[in-house]
Amino acid sequence: MRQKDVAIAGGGLAGSLAAAMLARKGIDVAMIDPHPVYPPDFRCEKIDGPQMRILEKTGLADAVLRASTHDRESWVARFGRLIEKRPGDQQGLMYDTLVNTIRAQIPATAEVICAKVTDITTSAERQIVKLSNGEEISARLVIVANGLNVGLRGKLGMERETISATHSISIGFDAVPAGRAAFQFPALTYYGEQPAERIPYITLFPIGTAMRANLFIYSDMQDPWLRQMRETPQEALFAKLPGLRALMGDFTVAGFVQIRPVDLYVTKNYQKAGVVLVGDAFATSCPAAGTGARRVLTDVERLCNVHIPHWLATPGMAVEKIGAFYDDPVKQACDTFSITKAYSLRSFTVDRTLPWVVRRWAKFFMQWGKGTLRRVTAARTPRRLDADSEETSQALVRRTSARG
Ligand SMILES: Cc1cc2nc3c(=O)[nH]c(=O)nc-3n(C[C@H](O)[C@H](O)[C@H](O)COP(=O)(O)OP(=O)(O)OC[C@H]3O[C@@H](n4cnc5c(N)ncnc54)[C@H](O)[C@@H]3O)c2cc1C
Repeated sequence: MRQKDVAIAGGGLAGSLAAAMLARKGIDVAMIDPHPVYPPDFRCEKIDGPQMRILEKTGLADAVLRASTHDRESWVARFGRLIEKRPGDQQGLMYDTLVNTIRAQIPATAEVICAKVTDITTSAERQIVKLSNGEEISARLVIVANGLNVGLRGKLGMERETISATHSISIGFDAVPAGRAAFQFPALTYYGEQPAERIPYITLFPIGTAMRANLFIYSDMQDPWLRQMRETPQEALFAKLPGLRALMGDFTVAGFVQIRPVDLYVTKNYQKAGVVLVGDAFATSCPAAGTGARRVLTDVERLCNVHIPHWLATPGMAVEKIGAFYDDPVKQACDTFSITKAYSLRSFTVDRTLPWVVRRWAKFFMQWGKGTLRRVTAARTPRRLDADSEETSQALVRRTSARG
């Protein structure tokens, strides 16, 4: 039986990141995942500024930056009007590229095993991990990072509690401008026009040479509009968001439209000796709120930078030790932010009561004000620069002629 400090069940974003971080710290780690290369999967497709700052703490940000496409400038439209052009802070990359880029950073000292974890026997000292290839691993700690797969957690006596079924539906596609070379915007976020349409926003951002679209809707999978979106995407999209046509223009879809519902769930009875849950294995986030990657990154950063080095430095792996991770104030704040945002974005989008109508308009005016200020400042800045460079060149001329 192989002896390891840490065994990681699952090699998605959370598991791969944990494997790379722990092995770089010299910790003896094995990551187990059935896919030698992470396959194409419709998931998080961009890393925003706050997420990138957490990624920096993991030491993996440079590799992700190199593999992704910066959006340069992001246009924002609300109520059908373009209200802001803000500096871009998003890095676009497909989920499989993100995971495989991180996997490529796992040092050779880590063992990556192509199999499924079929069972875990836990104790306050060592854990036994059973694999689908018949092997067994003995580890001091098991990180369960197997995402949505609930079977393993069931075997550990943990339960999944769905708190909001089909909380939102995510739609992804590659948009191609029809009859012209490019879209007029580098990146665009267009917010839903009417609560009745139940669309929080669509975001368009570059990945390589493609313009990727992520669209979200609060609906159910039987909604006939979803079929229209698959069959005639342009007509379906502009029927819900007529103001988008002026900004986006005619387009076609390269490949197919991906549609995926997401349930919000939490795991119950997760406090066990020798086992810790991270990422979607612990709880899911609403993709529209864009907090899933943030939660994964926060979980893994805190676990691998703060808790695991401390746990391994002392004997045993009792439940009290593991509890320190779940009680971590940074993790807890991130989890609370994620769930609060999931519900508030939904109310912000669909709720027609006065407080939410006021909030929608307040947000519009706030963003419009910011956009106007930015435009005014930008209009002044080149003049100032011109004036500066004029003064500088005059000074240079004066100095040169004085020397001459
Ligand atoms: C449609 C969609 C859109 C999203 N969009 C966004 C977004 O825009 N922004 C954002 O921040 N978040 C978004 N998210 C959320 C984000 O993508 C997830 O939170 C994140 O990918 C979870 O990563 P993970 O590592 O926990 O799980 P995963 O990436 O699912 O990894 C789980 C891994 O475990 C492996 N596995 C499963 N069972 C076993 C087993 N028994 N043994 C070994 N390995 C196993 C799987 O093969 C997989 O590799 C989105 C999610 C979805 C579904």
